[in-house]
Amino acid sequence: MERKRALISGAASGIGRATALRFAREGWDVCLTDRNGAALPAVLESMERGAHLICPGDYACPEDVAALGEQIAKRWGKLDALVNCAGIFMSADAIDSPLELWRRPMDVMIDGAVRLTRLCVPMMPGGGRIIHIASIHSERAERYSSAYAMAKAAIGQYCRSLAVELADRGILVNAISPGFIDTPMGIEDGVNVVDTPWFQDNYVAGHHLPLRRAGRPEEVAGVALFLAGPDASYITGQSIVVDGGLTVTF
Ligand code: NAD
Repeated sequence: MERKRALISGAASGIGRATALRFAREGWDVCLTDRNGAALPAVLESMERGAHLICPGDYACPEDVAALGEQIAKRWGKLDALVNCAGIFMSADAIDSPLELWRRPMDVMIDGAVRLTRLCVPMMPGGGRIIHIASIHSERAERYSSAYAMAKAAIGQYCRSLAVELADRGILVNAISPGFIDTPMGIEDGVNVVDTPWFQDNYVAGHHLPLRRAGRPEEVAGVALFLAGPDASYITGQSIVVDGGLTVTF
């Protein structure tokens, strides 16, 4: 049987890395892309062998995305899935922070999602799967994360719109909305948010997070694999929340 091919952005770290490893383990060929190109060979080294590709680049940069497209077209010629995991988190005061800085999550993540989608759709002539990693921030609010939350909300709506627009091409489009996942994104000044008294008191000892722990990147990767696979053939336009029950509490 022909092996399936997935492009995974943000593959150098966290959820993207775990997704690349999981897809490779399940027999997919994977194209790893990330702006942190230096970290990609080590990811490749940890993966099951396959006709994998490494294409470093910034997914919000038109030239980098064009180069990525050329590589995939030359080496594979087609794609079966895009899993767009790349992203940045940034705290910024909604009123007082410089506008340029505040806008950054939107500029990077919305632009990146759109550019990768436009790149991949023509390479899925027989149908395919698109999975964008959104966040519970797309529907919930927290101080100082307005631009991140707006970007993730936009990505959720983008998935719904694409699901409608791409259905006749046989392309199913979904999002995954993680809650707290233990990845390098949660590390600030050397401190992992899940180790802070704030997280431990509210979410481990307290009652806000029913499963009382942060998720593992592998627990998101498994959902991405499901959405890319045969058992998700009647799911499109949805966002699957992977948050240990966080958003059902109050
Ligand atoms: P991470 O920091 O471990 O990985 C993110 C990766 O994206 C990094 O390797 C980074 O280099 C790459 N990246 C960032 N900007 C890029 C760009 N412009 N071009 C190319 N690559 C770029 O973080 P993670 O937790 O694995 O995050 C993966 C996705 O999950 C992100 O979209 C994030 O917003 C989302 N998410 C994470 C959490 C969490 O708690 N970790 C929760 C909800 C949503």
